[in-house]
Amino acid sequence: MESAPGLQPDFTDVVNNLLTIGIAVVDRRFSVVMWNRFMELNSNVRAEEILGKNLFDAFPELNRNWLEKKIRSCMVLKTASYSSWQQRPYLFRFKAPAIFAQDNEFMYQDASIFPVRDRHGQVEGACIVVHDVTELAEAKRLLDVSLEQTLDLEESNQRDGLTGLYNRKYFDEQITQEVQSARRNGRPLTLVMIDIDHFKHVNDTLGHPAGDAVLRSISTQMCSTLRASDSLCRYGGEEFALILPQLRIEHADVILERLRSAVENTSIAIDDSTKVSVTISMGAAPLAEGVTPGQLVNMADEALFASKRAGRNCITYYNGKSN
Ligand code: GH3
Ligand code: MG
Ligand code: MG
Repeated sequence: MESAPGLQPDFTDVVNNLLTIGIAVVDRRFSVVMWNRFMELNSNVRAEEILGKNLFDAFPELNRNWLEKKIRSCMVLKTASYSSWQQRPYLFRFKAPAIFAQDNEFMYQDASIFPVRDRHGQVEGACIVVHDVTELAEAKRLLDVSLEQTLDLEESNQRDGLTGLYNRKYFDEQITQEVQSARRNGRPLTLVMIDIDHFKHVNDTLGHPAGDAVLRSISTQMCSTLRASDSLCRYGGEEFALILPQLRIEHADVILERLRSAVENTSIAIDDSTKVSVTISMGAAPLAEGVTPGQLVNMADEALFASKRAGRNCITYYNGKSN
């Protein structure tokens, strides 16, 4: 190391007194030849206790296979290597600094290893440099937590509390986006409005909580028959809206018939002695040239009313047949 004329610093002393960076030097047989203040303070092992001892005997918790290989290759290849806390959280298992100790079991460390030469230029050992990066790891952890909370909040803002389906607000945004996307890509889109038949009767005879249980059960049942790309939303009360992207209305029949019969054949247990089943009516409308999202909803609604008029538990296609 070079220094300006005048002052003749003892660099060993400088390195030994470093408090913020850990320096441990080992010779070819992994005996410790330098152990600075940082290492003393964090390991609770004083330099005089460890100097001359084998590093791996003194710290059995070290990942010996990995570290030995690293040190050997550093000495043979005469090149430095680096280990990031993101791949390997620590080299030495030290306690986290006090202000982070509550949320972190240990000190996160970046480490580098470089060859140490004697005065003749021969590589005679390796220097392990340890950086405490717990503050960085903690900042990253807090960022991840807040990102997760934001995503959870966004997700829960989109959901209906009773059924877990997408809510009306989500539907209004989604239908607008899907209509735009279908137009842009020249792809078909089908919208289906669904309404439970005679649902008032369920509430009147079995009570409102039973009605809620039916809504939940029907929602789960319907979801299980759909594709991941389909959006089933609770439009309001006992009415649902189903967005079927990339689906021609001519091809909707199989999906909707499966939905209709799945609901009809579901027996919902209200209590030990009461079971109930309900049916749904549906109205489907295709996205046509120049139709707005609002008009598309009206068209599907019109078809739904036709299903009700036709006797319920059936599907009507806008400007088409009931079945
Ligand atoms: P239709 O076959 O013509 O659709 O008859 P319906 O009885 O299903 O229709 P109506 O619109 O007369 O009644 C809907 C009922 O749905 C009335 C309302 O109390 C009930 N309802 C709406 N939201 C909820 C809810 O969240 N929970 C329960 N239990 N009932 C609800
Ligand atoms: Mg109804
Ligand atoms: Mg209704």
